[in-house]
Amino acid sequence: MLIESERRIPEAGEYDVVVVGGGIAGVAAALAGARNGAKVCLLEKMFGLGGLATLGNVIIYLPLCDGMGRQVIGGIGEELLKLSVRETPDAIPCCWREGGGKEERKSLRYQVAFNPASYMLALEEAVVGAGVDVWYDTRFCEVVKSGEKIEWVLVENKSGRLAIKCKAVVDASGDADVCARAGEEMISLRTNVRSGWFYYSKGGKVELNCLSKGFDPLGGKMPEDDFAYAGDRGKDVSEQVLETRKLIREELKILQKKYPDFRIEPILPPTIPCLRMTRRLKGRIELNETDDHRWFDDCVGMTGDWRKNGPIYYLPLRVLTAVKTTNLITAGRCISANTAWDVTRVIPTCAVTGEAAGVAAAMAAVKTEGDISKVEIADLQMQLKRQNVLLERQD
Ligand SMILES: Cc1cc2nc3c(=O)[nH]c(=O)nc-3n(C[C@H](O)[C@H](O)[C@H](O)COP(=O)(O)OP(=O)(O)OC[C@H]3O[C@@H](n4cnc5c(N)ncnc54)[C@H](O)[C@@H]3O)c2cc1C
Repeated sequence: MLIESERRIPEAGEYDVVVVGGGIAGVAAALAGARNGAKVCLLEKMFGLGGLATLGNVIIYLPLCDGMGRQVIGGIGEELLKLSVRETPDAIPCCWREGGGKEERKSLRYQVAFNPASYMLALEEAVVGAGVDVWYDTRFCEVVKSGEKIEWVLVENKSGRLAIKCKAVVDASGDADVCARAGEEMISLRTNVRSGWFYYSKGGKVELNCLSKGFDPLGGKMPEDDFAYAGDRGKDVSEQVLETRKLIREELKILQKKYPDFRIEPILPPTIPCLRMTRRLKGRIELNETDDHRWFDDCVGMTGDWRKNGPIYYLPLRVLTAVKTTNLITAGRCISANTAWDVTRVIPTCAVTGEAAGVAAAMAAVKTEGDISKVEIADLQMQLKRQNVLLERQD
């Protein structure tokens, strides 16, 4: 163990809301925060927004509906779906466009496939246009707390170590990095496999290969070999990336053998580790699969189940809020979801929790000195409804 010597860290800014992570959850949180009057900065260690959705080539915006014809996600969740196919709006199924057939909606889900490069550019335009300060190449490192409140967020970028003063923080890092540093109770799963969706050219035609070794989304079956990663330890992350790249090289050889008449070349491997469920907050409550159709009075959004038709999950604020830190809230794939983790981690649901977290953090920053528990739930729900978030209880 090395003891780091004490040093002075320059203050690099002061914000109402600091959002850590520029994936879909972080983008939604930043947009929602800025639209609700907060001064927001978005910290992203890579050089593009969208996280797994864009840099990981995960190009399917899973459904906004319950599979029975009912739309369960509106607000920024729907706005970001439309933005993902801004240049190709025909990608939206006819029945889900304005005036579309209600009967058809029961058999066709409201989802799209998008171009990750277009989407990354569009997300950046939207976030910057909303007045959010985007800090690329900036890694969240540490928090400085005073009692139960985060006063400073410490980051590192080309300028070295910097301190950002904040009123509220949204942890949209995907791996609950802020929660871990803030001393929250965490859950970490070693359930990630070698996985990397990559684009390749087959005789000049661009194709996507959804490479995942050993992942069975319905059964949650783990690989029988040693390739299983938690994704919240430095070495583990590098190993996952290195082994996945090896697999991609092997896959390209297999494709070349399969299509000898075509020239097979890689176009774009993922540029971010493709890890599904790594580390998450253990909140006051945890969302479970058995919570299907269970109403919560602090509901801040809804989601369907991408894997099957029928289920609806109401998302309570308590699965987002930290336990030991009053001004910290999570969004995206690191919220407090237990057996429902496979449902809450997907793109549309990350947008829903991002929007809720962003509004709650902005309201807290403006009205309650950052204390999210003091935000009136009725005010928060009313504001979310004004933003077209779907929150209606259905028995
Ligand atoms: C192989 C695979 C296939 C999938 N398929 C689908 C699919 O078809 N459809 C679907 O809807 N979902 C799919 N998913 C799930 C979905 O893509 C993700 O769970 C979702 O996009 C997560 O969004 P997020 O914003 O919570 O996190 P992420 O996308 O992980 O974003 C987190 C962001 O935070 C940044 N970050 C992390 N730590 C720090 C730090 N310390 N400092 C600064 N920045 C930081 C990261 O660089 C990243 O940009 C898939 C996932 C995988 C891995």
